[in-house]
Amino acid sequence: MSARAQRSPLTFQVTLTVLTLAVFALAVVVGFGLYATMQADRVSLERQKVFFANGLQDQIAAVKREQESVAVWDDSVTNAKAGNQAWMAENLSVWMYSYYGHNRVYVLDDANRAIHAMREGEVVSPAVFGEDEPALQPTIARLRQMMGKDAGQAGARFVADDLVSLGGQPAILSVTPLVPSSDRLTQAPGSEYLHVSIEFINDAVIGKIAQKYLLAGAHLLPMAQPLGSAAIPLVDKQGVILGYIAWDQERPGLTLVRKAGPALALAALVAASVLGFLLRRLRRASSALQNSQDQAQYLAFHDTLTGLPNRALFEDRLRRALLTSSHETGKVALLYLDLDRFKHVNDTLGHPAGDELVRQTAARLQHTVRDVDTVARLGGDEFAVILIDVRDIRGAEDISERVLHKLQEPFKLIDDQVFVSASIGIALSTGPDSDAGDLLRKADIALYEAKKNGRGRYQVFAGDMDDLLLRKRKVESELRNALNGGTGIKLAYQPVFAANGKTIIGAEALIRWAHEVHGALPAAQFIAIAEERGMIGQLGAWALLEACSFAVRTKLPWLAVNVSPLQLRDAGFAEQVASVLAETGLAPERLQLEITENVLLESNDTTTTTLANLRQTGVGIVLDDFGTGYSSLSYLRRHAIDKLKIDRSFVRLLDGDGNSGAIVRALIDLAGALKVEVTAEGVETEAQKTMLVAMGCQQLQGYLLSPPLEPAQLLALPGLSSDNDTKTQTTESA
Ligand code: C2E
Ligand code: CA
Ligand code: CA
Repeated sequence: MSARAQRSPLTFQVTLTVLTLAVFALAVVVGFGLYATMQADRVSLERQKVFFANGLQDQIAAVKREQESVAVWDDSVTNAKAGNQAWMAENLSVWMYSYYGHNRVYVLDDANRAIHAMREGEVVSPAVFGEDEPALQPTIARLRQMMGKDAGQAGARFVADDLVSLGGQPAILSVTPLVPSSDRLTQAPGSEYLHVSIEFINDAVIGKIAQKYLLAGAHLLPMAQPLGSAAIPLVDKQGVILGYIAWDQERPGLTLVRKAGPALALAALVAASVLGFLLRRLRRASSALQNSQDQAQYLAFHDTLTGLPNRALFEDRLRRALLTSSHETGKVALLYLDLDRFKHVNDTLGHPAGDELVRQTAARLQHTVRDVDTVARLGGDEFAVILIDVRDIRGAEDISERVLHKLQEPFKLIDDQVFVSASIGIALSTGPDSDAGDLLRKADIALYEAKKNGRGRYQVFAGDMDDLLLRKRKVESELRNALNGGTGIKLAYQPVFAANGKTIIGAEALIRWAHEVHGALPAAQFIAIAEERGMIGQLGAWALLEACSFAVRTKLPWLAVNVSPLQLRDAGFAEQVASVLAETGLAPERLQLEITENVLLESNDTTTTTLANLRQTGVGIVLDDFGTGYSSLSYLRRHAIDKLKIDRSFVRLLDGDGNSGAIVRALIDLAGALKVEVTAEGVETEAQKTMLVAMGCQQLQGYLLSPPLEPAQLLALPGLSSDNDTKTQTTESA
């Protein structure tokens, strides 16, 4: 049961769904958060790049502005053209270094030859210009071109700038002509001297830009080093990258996440534990639901007393077993089992003991068969066992034997020890297309046979049982109808004659059933069925009443009625006879009851008492079919009998040949010794009659003398009707 609760598919499904949703929700939140963070950081980075680009532009503009402050000046033109080195150092180069931080300055003549050079605040030989010239040349040429093109333009300011790399170091380059600041001085176009100013973009310059925008860790990145994302390239006018400005990227999104991190984690934790709590509740609820569902399922297919599969599950299993059985795997055998003394246990020890017996039987059955086999309780004390993979009927018989053996061991019920036996009906499948219902019916029929043949045994279903049973069932129901409707069943009366063969001394009532379809059914046959199906009591009572009612209307000295052994087992039978006699007014001496020998065999208290009581009422007791049973002299003596009827099988043997008569003579002599009357039945020939009479038999019955007659026929015989004589009869019976 616990295994079911743990692994319930419903619980699993619910949990899975909730967890999936939770994970999905988490993924969405985290994903969105990450995206927002990245987006914020990206936007911020773009802005930082713009800051640096602007900063660089500002720096370039500053260099140009600073350069202008000395290049537009009459003195500059004059002194440069005059080659005044001291003046140029003081105003055009060293000054630029010390005041503005320009790292290199060159003054070029109209042919672009250096006439003055300064590096890092020192005046150096103009020849060093040659080192930088290749890098500076394009910008100088561009300026000269601009000046040549727009020479005529009054007041035009010419300046060309670029970024250059000098000795691997990026730098801001600005070139501008030295021009007069007043009208006092003029120079011919093309004769201008140039001022070249260079400021290296070093960490100090970059730091200045970074400081302005509050960005940290800014530095120059030489070309070779790998690049992070927080950098902008330094590109010259030709599009060549000279280096990078890099800085510690400011990540506002990430910072926010870092700052909010603990709070977010806490919130996630709270959410997770709430989810966990809900999930546990949900699991508990759904597993409770599953449990009750399983419970209902279990109850629907199991017997509550034993826990065994019930009929519904049994039928399902049987069908499956039949479907999966094949020629290779073997057949399916069905054992139908029924306890022999269950009702007795229930009646004498009470229902709790009966329940306990059923439980213990179930347990024993389960221990006796294999795990693959199914034991089911079909109701009351009925069990069924499905055996799979059975090779042949022998296999099923072996198991049945084991089961019977196991059930013979005493049962300990509450405080009684009881011995019970069981009967088993066995049916074997014919193949995969066997029908479950058919197999069950066959096992049922076989069980019925087993019980009939003496209980405590098993019986394998045989083909002819089927027909027999079907016929019996049919006859049974029809007989029931006939009895209830009072139609079709009649009594015939066969007279019994004195030795002279003429005087009627009495008659025997014989039952007749004129069936609408089958015609006259042999009495022995349907009486056996009535006995088997528990209808003999009703049938016998009817016959007794009918016979007695008839007898009072005749002058018959006596009338014999056949009584089934089963009727004698009924404790109320003697009373029943007495009340019929009282009701019909028949004198007890005029009634004879024919019983069979086997009745005497049963040393049953009820039977003995009933017989004694019957004799006390004055009714005659006749032993029918004498010689065919097991009667011994001691029985005959113990139960005082009034008459013996020699069975017709002995009478038939009387064919004139000496030896065959010996038995009949012995029987007649025995009756004489016991001082009881004797009747010979089944007398069919004169020879038989003569021999019987010669042997001393005084009463004869048989076709020779008269067949069983209809009541009217009997009454028509001379001297038997008392219809005009009812008064006498009434007096007689009183
Ligand atoms: P039974 O008591 O031995 O009855 C005699 C049977 O022999 C009757 O058969 C009768 O018709 C038949 N019979 C009579 N004379 C001759 C003859 O000369 N030759 C041959 N071969 N048979 C002869 P029935 O009526 O078929 O009855 C068969 C058995 O059914 C009876 O045998 C009796 O045991 C039983 N039976 C009949 N009626 C009743 C009844 O009302 N109650 C009970 N419990 N049993 C009955
Ligand atoms: Ca009889
Ligand atoms: Ca008989």
